[in-house]
Amino acid sequence: MLTLSRHVLPAVLAVLLLSATACNSGSAAGSPPGFQPDVVTTDPGGGTESPEPSVAVPRPGPPGAVDARAVLTAFKGRGMVGHLEALQRIADDNGGNRASGTSGYEESARYVEEQLRAAGYNPVRQTFTFEQDRRNRNQAESFNILAETGGSAANTVVVGGHLDSVEDGPGINDNGSGVAAILETAKWMKKNGITPVNRVVFAFWGAEENDLDGSRHYVDELSKTEKDQTSAYLNVDMAASPNGIRSFHDGDGSDFGDAGPSGSDGIENVFERYFTENALPAETTAFEGGDSDYDAFLQAGIPAGGLFSGDSESKTDAQAQAYGGTPGRDLDPCYHEACDTLSNIDSALLQEMSGALAYVTAAYALAPRN
Ligand SMILES: [Zn+2]
Repeated sequence: MLTLSRHVLPAVLAVLLLSATACNSGSAAGSPPGFQPDVVTTDPGGGTESPEPSVAVPRPGPPGAVDARAVLTAFKGRGMVGHLEALQRIADDNGGNRASGTSGYEESARYVEEQLRAAGYNPVRQTFTFEQDRRNRNQAESFNILAETGGSAANTVVVGGHLDSVEDGPGINDNGSGVAAILETAKWMKKNGITPVNRVVFAFWGAEENDLDGSRHYVDELSKTEKDQTSAYLNVDMAASPNGIRSFHDGDGSDFGDAGPSGSDGIENVFERYFTENALPAETTAFEGGDSDYDAFLQAGIPAGGLFSGDSESKTDAQAQAYGGTPGRDLDPCYHEACDTLSNIDSALLQEMSGALAYVTAAYALAPRN
């Protein structure tokens, strides 16, 4: 990959990399299976002597639908906060949280199902049992919501994030923001007439905050063949942290030494391309065992990656320079607390991160089959 590294990518470097990315894209090591980026020169806008650098887009795609800059522009116009307002109302009506096994979770699920149905999907529930109260070993039932597109199952892309909150708060950034990103990606694909060559499964996991139970159950239920046929898992767990950063997982381990299964490097590269082509500073983040729903996929040997805008870590000076915000303050000061409400989000960051999820989802959905 192009070395972006854990160091924050300054905007000026990002602009320089814009052309480097295009030049190197032909080799595309570690790209999605069968992924053959096409180099397309964008309209320089008036035929000046300094045309814009070439931009790599996956093929075959509808013109513009998978151009990184066009995707960002599209997501800047999407009213994503409406989903967060809905989830906040649901928490307010249900004792202040949306934890698995509660009425707040059930209502959150109905909201997601309505949204998916309205967009033309057919969501299904996948139930599982989990330990709701570890002290009393109290078993409870919960469920994931799964909605899939058409396309070949042989290169399935799973796009997921957890729907449940902790019991201590409404979970609007963690992980209402991820839910909003996935819903809008699903809706954007339908609206833009993106017909996946490869099947996409949109997944809303239950009981992540217990022990990642929903995503573990999903992976446990896959046959060996189905695991082999899952070419990518894209996770989003917090995408609107109020003092946040733009980060995506270090799939090749070049920055944190802990690579995901082969193919995770390609996922990292495609996320990187989105941020680079949009001149948005971004950095990589490590896979932390047991931290989020990518864990079960990694353990099953399925390539994974995804987005993270930060939780209880303090913002460094370099991060404040790159992204703005307050150095020395937590990236999300309300992480897992009652104050993780509608006022605990950065809506512009949510749009940028959601565009990244949509871009990478489309790249995998449209990658030519092997
Ligand atoms: Zn979370």
